[in-house]
Amino acid sequence: GFKAVLIQKDASGEQSCGFVSLTDADLMEGDVTIRIERSTVNYKDGLAVTGRAPVVRRFPMVPGVDGVGIVEQSASLSFKPGDRVLLNGWGVGELHLGAWAERARWKSDWLIALPSGFSPDEAMAIGTAGYTAMRAVMALERHGIHPPAGPVLVTGAAGGVGSVAVALLAGLGYHVVASTGRPEEADYLKGLGASEIIPRSDLNGAGKPLARERWIGAIDVVGGQTLANILSMIRYDGAVAACGLAGGLELPTTVAPFILRGVTLYGIDSVYVPKPVRIAAWDRLDRDLDRRKLAAMTKRIAFEDVIDAARQIVDGKVRGRLVVEVG
Ligand code: NAP
Repeated sequence: GFKAVLIQKDASGEQSCGFVSLTDADLMEGDVTIRIERSTVNYKDGLAVTGRAPVVRRFPMVPGVDGVGIVEQSASLSFKPGDRVLLNGWGVGELHLGAWAERARWKSDWLIALPSGFSPDEAMAIGTAGYTAMRAVMALERHGIHPPAGPVLVTGAAGGVGSVAVALLAGLGYHVVASTGRPEEADYLKGLGASEIIPRSDLNGAGKPLARERWIGAIDVVGGQTLANILSMIRYDGAVAACGLAGGLELPTTVAPFILRGVTLYGIDSVYVPKPVRIAAWDRLDRDLDRRKLAAMTKRIAFEDVIDAARQIVDGKVRGRLVVEVG
């Protein structure tokens, strides 16, 4: 048997989560069997473990939406035993057993070779959170927002997506305004390259359809009233990349920013992104993410501590990124 985290639901619908021993017979369909080395903790894993949102759609479920490991068996021509592979998303940890286990069986279509510029630890320090931050930066670039255009806002800046977004934007030369609910993390955020720190409370109160124009672009992980307020503060022809819901699923906005200031709202998904786009985003991370900043935002935790960490992330208590030492 091998060790795994398992989320179960009993007959009354009560959800529980703990460590169990599984065998290969418990693994789901797939053409590649992998010995997991490293995983990470994303906000979605926290939602899965706590049941705070219905992200798990198959029980029992092994959480963990990101993993790096060594191929042990493969029926695919694309991978052979001994290859090191990376998985992000594709419903793993939601519909298909995930990476918080010493073994996993996944579809070769979901896997990419571990990008050569990254160690397993670095790839998981980035994980879905960091790769989503990269995709959000690329959306702003495609919109034509380059550093001279003006300041760019990052919300939830001390969290995972936020920390990577701050480091990436600063490294590319943007003037980064970091919004955080944790003023004690100001030095941390300045170390990642933020030029200004603003309190979360500047953005989450009752707002107006249009407010003073402040930023040309924004990367938002909060959603809800915060995203509505950001839209009302974006400069003429600017854009927002929306990637999260840490502050709510609703979006109580008006059309005013869109029709009076030409503001654009981009949606960022990371789960079902086609393979070539994934590889392009990982190539950009290889080129543009400062490894010292990545190390500064990352903490390693033991496999035994992953359930506690999942409970903490949905309470906004995790700083930056976590790497989980699975095997
Ligand atoms: P995280 O590390 O917990 O970061 C979220 C941050 O948001 C927190 O650290 C906190 O930052 C801030 N925050 C938390 N609760 C808040 C609230 N009620 N109001 C305002 N701010 C709040 O999580 P993550 O892994 O970076 O994920 C962030 C969000 O992005 C989540 O909603 C996640 O589901 C989403 N996400 C989406 C995709 C995608 O494919 N679209 C991929 C990855 C993540 P401060 O303390 O600095 O304020």
